[in-house]
Amino acid sequence: MTAAIYPIDLQTQYGRIQRDLDSRVQAVFAHGKFILGPEVAQFETEIAALCNARHAVGLASGHTALVIGLWAAGVGPGDKVYVPAFSYCATAGAVTAIGAVPVFVDVDPRTFLMDPTALARAILEVEQTDPDSSRAIMPVDLFGLAADYSAINAIARQHGLIVVADAAQGLGATRDGRPVGALADVTATSFFPTKPLGAAGDGGCLLTNDAAIAERARSMRTHGQDTGDERQMRPGLTGRLDTLQAAVLLAKLPIFRDEIARREAVARTYDAALEAAVTVPARPNGATSAWAQYAVLTSRRDDVLAALRAAEVPARVFYRYPLPEHPEFAAKGITPRPLTTAPWLSERVLNLPMHPYVSDDQIAYVSDTIREALGVSQRA
Ligand SMILES: *Cc1c(COP(=O)(O)O)cnc(C)c1O
Repeated sequence: MTAAIYPIDLQTQYGRIQRDLDSRVQAVFAHGKFILGPEVAQFETEIAALCNARHAVGLASGHTALVIGLWAAGVGPGDKVYVPAFSYCATAGAVTAIGAVPVFVDVDPRTFLMDPTALARAILEVEQTDPDSSRAIMPVDLFGLAADYSAINAIARQHGLIVVADAAQGLGATRDGRPVGALADVTATSFFPTKPLGAAGDGGCLLTNDAAIAERARSMRTHGQDTGDERQMRPGLTGRLDTLQAAVLLAKLPIFRDEIARREAVARTYDAALEAAVTVPARPNGATSAWAQYAVLTSRRDDVLAALRAAEVPARVFYRYPLPEHPEFAAKGITPRPLTTAPWLSERVLNLPMHPYVSDDQIAYVSDTIREALGVSQRA
């Protein structure tokens, strides 16, 4: 068989940037400014430029970026925040963490993304029972595909809502030619090591064109204090991006676009090998993906998963439960009407190894294993 297949290969990536990364990390130890050192400001400048956003605020994690993004956007306890019903638990977890109420909106069966029609319907339903409680919409760029921001932003404007995007998986994607980070009022992203742009530990960032929101976020990452004033002025926490993580991220930025292009090539090779056997990811017009995940659909998901595991392929299932089925959200969130698509996807979704360094041999091995498990002998 081929060399061991990893869910993500950070060793090969390290080999490409080792000299630069090591010297940047050593520089941090030499100057000793571990909290908000110069690398943090430099990284903020570079990531803002990459995303066409006016302001970037480096934060401790994706969760911190979502919490601070909601707070800085004026969302508070009891406010309703519309989230897709199919996502990682941290999306709705940030909403309940600040005492706000997640409203679960069904998703599109081909893109996994929040369905704008279902969103509009959910807002009208909530407004009938609980007028003036809706405050924000949190689209998710699931698996790296940019959400339908133009449709969602139009609905937000119509109802006076703010859009706080969960782009934890979406950095590097575009929609209608514009990068994720410039598509919502506030964008929160994560640098967890397995995300498209990963640190060597936890990290995150908030992107916005709104100077007041950026200013509040800077205060909130330091306990809600303002510079020069020792009083806590607003909600806050220990939420800063570490200088060491900023140094690591600065070393990874120069190869980021190349890595996204390699992920795109891996996805196309998978598509060709698998489209006769399973439903391969959709590519909606005007949207590009950062390919945080490569997710296929099959009604025999658990059989295929067992075959892949037996063949030592690290396949995963993201996500086995729609968000309203997590006890935390069942207790604290609302689902305006029964969901159909999110549970259907949870039974069929299967995530294959995806990173910039998956080889053609490895893709062939994974695909052959899947076709064999499904009894599909021919390639398309
Ligand atoms: C990873 C992830 C988060 C949380 O990011 P952390 O950096 O782990 O806190 C939030 N939402 C989504 C969709 C994610 O994939």
